[in-house]
Formats: sequence, structure tokens, C-alpha cells
Amino acid sequence: MSKTHWKKLNNPDYLGAYALNPGEDLILTIERAGKEAFTGTSGKKEDGLLIHFRESDAKPMICNSTNAKAITKVAGTPYVEDWKGVRIALYSQEVSAFGETVDALRVRPFPPKEDILCAECGSPIKATCGKSPRQLAAYTEEKYGKELCADCATRVAQQEKAEEAEGPVNENDED
Ligand SMILES: [Zn+2]
Repeated sequence: MSKTHWKKLNNPDYLGAYALNPGEDLILTIERAGKEAFTGTSGKKEDGLLIHFRESDAKPMICNSTNAKAITKVAGTPYVEDWKGVRIALYSQEVSAFGETVDALRVRPFPPKEDILCAECGSPIKATCGKSPRQLAAYTEEKYGKELCADCATRVAQQEKAEEAEGPVNENDED
């Protein structure tokens, strides 16, 4: 049964350890990351790295250097512009801060383990040709408009080739 942390009801502006269910990772997709002004815990305005997520119910995360390093490992790049679309797993870790033990929001330094299902055949996308399932899904999404397994991607590519071969005829018809 999932319980409700009181801070959840307090509606803070940013994602924190309170957003996690105990013992569960929260898996989110980065929409954009960059330097932004935010209101810190002391109430004063600060500048820092803010991460926005695609999931509409996820609040933006203030990203410290520990988590930025973890995301760099997951994304394979330290450039925040290239973090778009990267899936990360968040977990809660007890840390000592100012003599107190608090729950801190942490990013796992490896990609979330999850099945990505092919939009055509519904089977899990497997790593192929040196691409991870996530990379393959991103690649096919960009190229064919949907996340596909290697088999389906090959079939769609062949279909597109066949349609391309007929292409000039259709264009002449329109003239
Ligand atoms: Zn498929």
C-alpha cells in the first residue's frame, strides 16, 4: 500500500525524496535541463541546474552536482542539452546534513531497467547492433515516428523504400 508523505500535501515547488514511495524507484524522462532561477529552501532566489520532466505529474528537480554526475553516466554525455529524452531512475538515500539525517533525492548512475515495448508487435525491444533498447527506441521514434523493435524497424524501412520507389509516379499524378 502506498502512503502519503505529509510534504506531498504541502505542494512544494520542486521534486524531492518525499515524492518517492518507500523502496521504489521513480522513473522519469528528462524533457529539458538548464540553468534557471529558483527559490531555495531559505526562501531566497538562486541560480542552478533545473531538470524538467516529460511526465506531467512530476515537478522540476533541482539538480546538484552528485546527481548531475549520475545523469552524465546514464546519458553518456555531460552536456545538458543532450539529456533530453533520457530516462533516469530516482531513489531516496539517507544522508547526514547539518547534524541531521535527511532523505535526499538521488539519481541512479545507470539506466532504469525496464522493458520498452515495440509499437508494432508489442514485444520488448532488445539491444541490437550496439544500441541499447532505449537508444533503439529513440532512433526509431525519430526515424519512423514510433518506438520499434529491430525486426519491425527493418520491415517499416523496407515498406518505406518500396513506397519511395513508387514516389515519382505519384508526384506526376498530382501534376
Ligand atoms: Zn516489433
